[in-house]
Amino acid sequence: MTPKTISLEQEVNPWEAQAARFDFAAHKLNLDEGLWKILRYPTREIIVHIPVAMDDGRVEVFTGFRVQHSFARGPGKGGVRYSPDVTLDEVRALASWMTWKCAVVNIPFGGAKGGIIVDPKKLSKHELERLTRRYTAELSEFIGPEKDVPAPDMGTNEQTMAWMMDTYSMHMRQTVNAVVTGKPISIGGSRGRREATGRGVMIVCDEALKKFGLTREQTRVIVQGFGNVGSNSAQLMYDHGYKVVGVDELDGGLYNPNGINIDELMEYKQRNGSLVNFHGAEARPPQSLLTEDCDILVPAATENVITSRNAADIKCKILCEGANGPTTAAADEILTDKKVFVIPDILANAGGVTVSYFEWVQDRQGYFWKESAINEQLEQIMTSAFEDVVRYAETHQVNNRIAAYMLAIDRVAETIKQRGIYA
Ligand code: NAD
Repeated sequence: MTPKTISLEQEVNPWEAQAARFDFAAHKLNLDEGLWKILRYPTREIIVHIPVAMDDGRVEVFTGFRVQHSFARGPGKGGVRYSPDVTLDEVRALASWMTWKCAVVNIPFGGAKGGIIVDPKKLSKHELERLTRRYTAELSEFIGPEKDVPAPDMGTNEQTMAWMMDTYSMHMRQTVNAVVTGKPISIGGSRGRREATGRGVMIVCDEALKKFGLTREQTRVIVQGFGNVGSNSAQLMYDHGYKVVGVDELDGGLYNPNGINIDELMEYKQRNGSLVNFHGAEARPPQSLLTEDCDILVPAATENVITSRNAADIKCKILCEGANGPTTAAADEILTDKKVFVIPDILANAGGVTVSYFEWVQDRQGYFWKESAINEQLEQIMTSAFEDVVRYAETHQVNNRIAAYMLAIDRVAETIKQRGIYA
């Protein structure tokens, strides 16, 4: 799929990683050349330079992006990332992944993504608020419930969404809560949204276990990243009987072959802000747990943690990608040879956008659902998407990732043909 001689720098470029899978899947689908060209590149890329008055009186200028990859199936949908490492290529890749992800779970959105080059930990709350409001104001004509609906991602949270919603509403001169999802429940957020990505991870792992004839109690899980996706995946899996034997974070990992008590770990992290020195497990160096023996590995931190350099050492049976883009295209080939059952990101972490869809629907209805209704509908969507992908893989004799791309590209291409954009 990808030449084995490419440099690590090329291998870890997220746009190249996305494009390699897209090209391969489009080729397998025998996709019409015109549709190929339409879908290979984003529809719109916006770059903004945002002046912010800092608390000490200085003015700083931050660079932000919003990339809208496709509107074929509905409004753009995708998170906003605050990180010092954000690049336009990364946001482009993430926007395309959102198009494919929404199509895999068959919800009526296109794909978009945003980001600002900033380390949110280095800004005060007031500085972050001013940055967020100015970014939203700059984008106000490009976002909206029928245009493009942002959500939280790395470095942003419910508070960020509340500021975005308020700023957009000020410009529209009315409250428009459906402009963003992942909001606090008190201002139009959805029950179950915070845990939704982790819940989706657990649902697809449950489905994979059936294929392996394993029970939850027999299944050892290692989770990388203990933020929104990682901690919720670990907590829900622990609550449902899985044995979470490892948790890896930036400042160190934790391992206990008998299982870590995730209730205690959550409480510890809440109290200390870190997992370091937690007594219920052995300390391990950061990143080392990726190659530890386990049944399910859930990378839920960031991109490119599984590359051609470490893929051969991965020992899990099931790789469930909570993060976006944790595995490079070159690593895919190695994992396929090793017969690792990969649940690809555009399926595995789609629980978040699915409940974001429910939030958008509830905001537009002005009627809010019970958490049990949300979780039940999430489960139906995730299990049928899992079945669709696995069936596609078997029918077309491709791995699960390529199957997910093929399924998604096929659905988006069909809409474009029906709408007649391609005429
Ligand atoms: P987050 O900021 O809440 O958590 C990320 C965690 O990973 C942090 O605790 C961070 O310290 C840790 N981390 C970062 N790099 C690491 C590394 N190299 N090794 C170990 N730990 C590391 O972010 P999140 O919202 O949980 O998102 C995580 C990933 O999941 C991202 O790829 C994001 O795009 C993806 N995702 C998130 C959602 C969502 O609903 N939040 C939905 C779909 C996909």
